[in-house]
Amino acid sequence: MRFYICEKREEVKPFKIGIIGAGPAGLAAAGYLACRGYEVHVYDKMPEGGGMVAFGIPEARIPIRAVREGVEALEQLGVQFHFRTKVVYDSPKELGDEWAEHFVSIEKLLSEFDALIIATGAWKPRKLKVPGIGLPGVYDALSLLHSIKMARIGYYSWERIPDLKGKHLVVIGAGYTAVDVAMEGRLLGAEKITMVYRRSLEHSYAKAEIRKLIAEGVEFIEHATPVRILGEEKVEGVEFAKTKIVGGNVVTTDEHFVIDADVVAYAIGQLPTSPIKEIVCASEKVLEEAGIFFAGDVVTPRNIGTAIREGRAVAERIEEWLLRKAPRRVFPVAMTGRLIAEVLSGKC
Ligand SMILES: Cc1cc2nc3c(=O)[nH]c(=O)nc-3n(C[C@H](O)[C@H](O)[C@H](O)COP(=O)(O)OP(=O)(O)OC[C@H]3O[C@@H](n4cnc5c(N)ncnc54)[C@H](O)[C@@H]3O)c2cc1C
Repeated sequence: MRFYICEKREEVKPFKIGIIGAGPAGLAAAGYLACRGYEVHVYDKMPEGGGMVAFGIPEARIPIRAVREGVEALEQLGVQFHFRTKVVYDSPKELGDEWAEHFVSIEKLLSEFDALIIATGAWKPRKLKVPGIGLPGVYDALSLLHSIKMARIGYYSWERIPDLKGKHLVVIGAGYTAVDVAMEGRLLGAEKITMVYRRSLEHSYAKAEIRKLIAEGVEFIEHATPVRILGEEKVEGVEFAKTKIVGGNVVTTDEHFVIDADVVAYAIGQLPTSPIKEIVCASEKVLEEAGIFFAGDVVTPRNIGTAIREGRAVAERIEEWLLRKAPRRVFPVAMTGRLIAEVLSGKC
């Protein structure tokens, strides 16, 4: 998997760029900038590069070998990687943090680099807020997929992974994550898989993949949303309310039904995980003046192609910005935080 193709590395340029996040966005930016002759350092809390492609997307769809080849090509281009290194400011605890052995403050990076790219993705699953969500056997699909992938590529023991053999897996959602957890469910021997979505199949951007799953025997129920997880000691079922679409919005009805379940995985979206939470909502112009740029899912969760395009586009913008020799106003993060607060003006 190639994140950037460099025909010929240009002569060395006297600027250093720091990139936080070695997912497709950060790697595409790193490739472009290294190819243009800049010194590039990439920081990632995980033990190797690839981001969600390496540590979330199932091995059966994108093998780790392909991701590793892409990262190695960037190493050969001169990109310097700092793995197991989390960049912190006000970062709360997030998925994957257990891998970080080193912690670097964003202030330190701001003082060391001429520009910083934040490409930290969206590693926080949106929580399903219904009664019974804490019952054993209920998982957020992102964390479950992450664990399964870590087991498949040898970082976790399979003992950590719930046994799905012969079980009825109920998947809530209809995006990539929902599709992948259903697919892994099949591979791990689930006897029955039911996907439930609050809109119609046509509304899902993963409808082609879902049609394939349906053809393989996965049940797909449209127009229903969970209202309660049922069970005493562990999950035994899910109560759903039927939904209808009114003026483009999902409205729940009084019509309820129950689906029995042994395991429930919900995939109702992911939230951006920037080391500076508020920064995502702040004015891009103000941040650019401070030398901070963003790319990929940390802006809005989307897909690999968009992350790669954005990574490259941001790298081109940085180059333009550096070459204009704009007098860089290096704001310490506390100052950046204040600026951001001013910019927010109630918007976030
Ligand atoms: C289950 C699943 C399936 C998907 N399937 C598809 C698909 O089929 N097709 C498709 O196009 N897209 C798919 N996507 C979406 C795709 O994976 C993302 O859009 C893409 O990976 C975003 O790239 P990114 O570089 O912005 O972020 P990420 O890939 O999320 O990478 C961000 C990186 O930042 C690191 N990081 C985060 N915070 C810090 C910090 N504070 N310090 C240091 N490092 C940090 C993380 O460890 C991670 O390596 C899927 C996503 C998921 C979750």
